[in-house]
Amino acid sequence: MKPRVWITGPVAEAALPGLRELADVTMRPAPEKALPDEMLAGVPGLAGLLPVNGARVDAEVLDTAGPSLRIVANFGVGYDNVDVGAATARRIPVTNTPDVLVESTADVAFGLLIAAARRFGEGQSAAREDRWQWAQGLMWGQEVSGATLGILGLGRIGSAVARRGRAFGMRVLYHSRSRKPEAEFALPCEYRSLEDMLAEVDFLSLHVALKPETRHILNGPALARMKRTAIVVNTGRGGLVDQAALLAAVRDGRIAGAGLDVTDPEPPSPDDPILHAPGIYVTPHIGSASVGARTAMTRVAAENLTAVLRGRRPPNCVNPEVLG
Ligand code: NAP
Repeated sequence: MKPRVWITGPVAEAALPGLRELADVTMRPAPEKALPDEMLAGVPGLAGLLPVNGARVDAEVLDTAGPSLRIVANFGVGYDNVDVGAATARRIPVTNTPDVLVESTADVAFGLLIAAARRFGEGQSAAREDRWQWAQGLMWGQEVSGATLGILGLGRIGSAVARRGRAFGMRVLYHSRSRKPEAEFALPCEYRSLEDMLAEVDFLSLHVALKPETRHILNGPALARMKRTAIVVNTGRGGLVDQAALLAAVRDGRIAGAGLDVTDPEPPSPDDPILHAPGIYVTPHIGSASVGARTAMTRVAAENLTAVLRGRRPPNCVNPEVLG
């Protein structure tokens, strides 16, 4: 009998033939995130679980799956939806899908940066609502070219956004846990403490992983250090930002605006003010939603599953200590 694999939402079928040969694969057809009850109902007896759309995998899900579960192959580079500690305690490898979504996500970050700076949303509404005017004073925004860009988390995606900034003639500052001498020389970019970077930048783009120590890294006091003309871009995770503080800062004119691909919670309720505040642009977590990136993410997740089901080391394990 083939080992059973459950994919909790639709993914690119074109990347699955190899996995289907090896395993009995079931794909949940609903596009929304699987709810906790569905997760508990879906996991008993699985050998492999592929959570999609941030479906939550906690200790209860792992225990309900039982001892047959050999891998949690998360779809995405961020894996804050998986209790990695609980998986490690049960010696279950957790994998992610890094690298293949870097350029796609950086494109969305830079797109949001320009959209918020140059007020694309208001422009589209004006054009659609018969308020088209070629008026000298209309919709002045922030200049992108030549401005100062701050990158919080100069990892894979942060570096790709920094490269885009350089192509726009921007000066790039960054803050990460560790200094990056090679990037400082090659981009070039300059290291700053978080406090100093916040005060200096025209645009701040967030790219750190969401962990207990990075939750609300951009909180009220941090926002208060920023320029009144500054714009915040977040394609990392909604929980990196104190959303109520961000909303208040934009509403009160203490910063100029924001472009958010991620919110807290996700999805926001339709009447959440974050969706309706002038100057805040929200896209529904589409950072990696290009044909190429999403197909490649499926291929990488399938490779991780296939490796473990064949008794090999998965290429993208985030808790390698369980592999021995
Ligand atoms: P990555 O290469 O691991 O980069 C993360 C960076 O954050 C690293 O440079 C790291 O610094 C830095 N960092 C971690 N903790 C920090 C802290 N406490 N203070 C300052 N810097 C810290 O990850 P990635 O591939 O670029 O992905 C970044 C995040 O983007 C993911 O975790 C995910 O949540 C999000 N994402 C979102 C989408 C979307 O659709 N919107 C798509 C893909 C990814 P060091 O280098 O010093 O360790």
